[in-house]
This record gives sequence, structure tokens and C-alpha cells, in this order.
Amino acid sequence: MTETMRGVFLPGNSTAEVREYPVPTPGHGQLVIKMGASGICGSDIGYIFHEYKTHKGLDGKPAYKGVIAGHEPSGRVVSKGPGCVRFDEGDRVLIYHIVGCGRCPNCRSGNFISCSDGRYREAYGWQRDGGHADYVLVEESTCIPLPEPLTYEDGALIACGFGTAYEGLKRTGIKGGEDLLVVGLGPVGMAAATIGRLLGARRVIGVERGAERIAFVEQTGLVDDIVVADDASADAVLDLTGGVGCAVAVDCSGSAPGRSTALEAAAEWGRVSLLGEGGRLETEVSDVMLHKQLTVFASWVTSLQGMEDLTGKLQAEAVHPDRVVSHRMSLSDAHQAYTLAAAGAAGKVVLVPEEQP
Ligand SMILES: [Zn+2]
Ligand SMILES: [Zn+2]
Repeated sequence: MTETMRGVFLPGNSTAEVREYPVPTPGHGQLVIKMGASGICGSDIGYIFHEYKTHKGLDGKPAYKGVIAGHEPSGRVVSKGPGCVRFDEGDRVLIYHIVGCGRCPNCRSGNFISCSDGRYREAYGWQRDGGHADYVLVEESTCIPLPEPLTYEDGALIACGFGTAYEGLKRTGIKGGEDLLVVGLGPVGMAAATIGRLLGARRVIGVERGAERIAFVEQTGLVDDIVVADDASADAVLDLTGGVGCAVAVDCSGSAPGRSTALEAAAEWGRVSLLGEGGRLETEVSDVMLHKQLTVFASWVTSLQGMEDLTGKLQAEAVHPDRVVSHRMSLSDAHQAYTLAAAGAAGKVVLVPEEQP
């Protein structure tokens, strides 16, 4: 008799269904992970939950292939197939959310996210079964050790948003004593604030529109000042910094006004990283960019090694990403969890099992 498990299917009509699936069996080079925590991402909402949409760079068809959802899992290895060389039963891991071909230049530099071979590129929760389930079948090559004292929720957060924020900040070369501006204080913005501090930022200023989010972020203590997003927010940031602006700015809002704020409030010789998806970049070029000698980076996710490096830094300083979680929901309550996340929950919404693996 085949053992069964729960898994979340998204029909694309703003509902989430908990269905029954067989517990997977690992093949060569594969592991089965018992889920410890599994995050709901903005991209799950934007491209799958409400309706199926394409994700630029793929084949123009909906990116979601009707699999078990969830691309931000962490958990414990419960079985392994032949040919696994790094992990064993009992190990705690987090999962880099894309499997690549392993041969193209991007894969060979660990950037599975940008794998150019569409025949083999598969994201968990999009093109192959993902982490919103009791168990998930993964390639050993996509697993990263999750060391104590990091929690499963920490792992789930590193698996997407924190990895993304880390890469974007790393490219700016942020260093001790610099001021950091974070535009958009959703889960990725809170990740940028956390990691910016870890990398030495002196003062962290956030810009956010939502009152609930502002209240949530204030109690986490992740930022020093919060400016309400409006037409005057760049000026407000300049006022806070004695007219200088911030040496480093990241946009996590994914909105045209948010990006403009990041550029306008960046200091002379500032570095600006764009992390938020969608929309357009609109700005005045001469005064805002050229005359200030700005450098702008655009960054998508991170590499396997980037994710592992970040995990090591967080562990070394015992910094817990799970501070950005506002709602922990049971896998069986996936529909309520998705509905909350879609309504713009104050912080991150994470699915958790009834019992820690
Ligand atoms: Zn994600
Ligand atoms: Zn590849």
C-alpha cells in the first residue's frame, strides 16, 4: 500500500486546495525531505494564486504546471536514493528552489535560476512538486545544510527572499558605516534590512506605504527610521541624512515610484540595487543619476553558493530571519494562509507541519 501525504494545489482562482498525493520515493541523486517550514512568496500570489500567468523568459505559457506549490521549503532528510554523496537521513536542509541542467554556463557558476536549457530547468512549486506538502522530493544538488541554531523557518526564508536580498546587497559592496535605504518593507525588504545590518550598515532607513506593515516592522526593530511612501519620501530621507542621502539603496517595492525614491535618495557615488519584480523604471537621468555618479544593479535571486554563504553568516552571528514571519499556519489551512498573504499580510506567511520533523 502506498503511503499518502497532503500537498497544496493552486487552481488559479484565488483558492488553495489541500489534496492527497503519494509520498515520493527518491531516485538516483535524490532525497525526500520532511517539511519543517515552507514559505508563501509574492511570486506565488502574483503568477499562480489569482490566475496563471507566464513568467518572462520562459515559453510564454503559464509558468505553473499544476504541481504541488511552494518553492521555499526547509526540513529534514528522511530517505535518500543511490548516488547521494553529501547528505544523510536526519540532516536538516534548506532547498535552493530551482533545478538546472548543470551544464550551461549559468548552472556551472551555481546560478541555476538563470539556467538556459529549458528542457531541464525546473523550479520547485512551478514545474515540479514543491514544498507545500508533508514531504518533498528534491535533487541533492539543490540542498544546502541548515545548521543550528537556525530554525526551519529561518531555512525557508533563506531559500528565497533572504537569498535574493543578500545577492542584491553583495553586489553593491555595502560596507561598515554606510547608511542603507530599503524601499518596500515586505518580506524581501525586511530581509534586506536584516542582512544590510549584518554586512555592517550603520543606519537603516525604510520606506513603506502600508500602515500594518509599518507597525509590524517597527516592533521587529529591524530599521532605525521609517518614512511613509508618498511623493515626498525621497526628500524625507534626504532630511534624515542631513541632505546627503544613503550610500546604498535597494528597491524591494517593485513599483515605479519606489524605484524613483531609491534613486533620488541615494547619495553621491551611491549604489542602488533593484530587487522588486514587475513594472517599469522611470526617472530623471541627469540630476538623479549622472551627476550623482550612481551605479545601478539589477539582481535576480542568488547562486547556490551565495545561499550557502549567507546561511553561514547568519549562523555565525545567530541572526534569525524568522523575525519577519507574521503568520504561521498549518498545511491544512493553506487556503486561509494564501488568502492572508494575498491580502498583503504584515509580514511573511509560512506553512508549518503539526510536528517538527
Ligand atoms: Zn519566493
Ligand atoms: Zn543550465
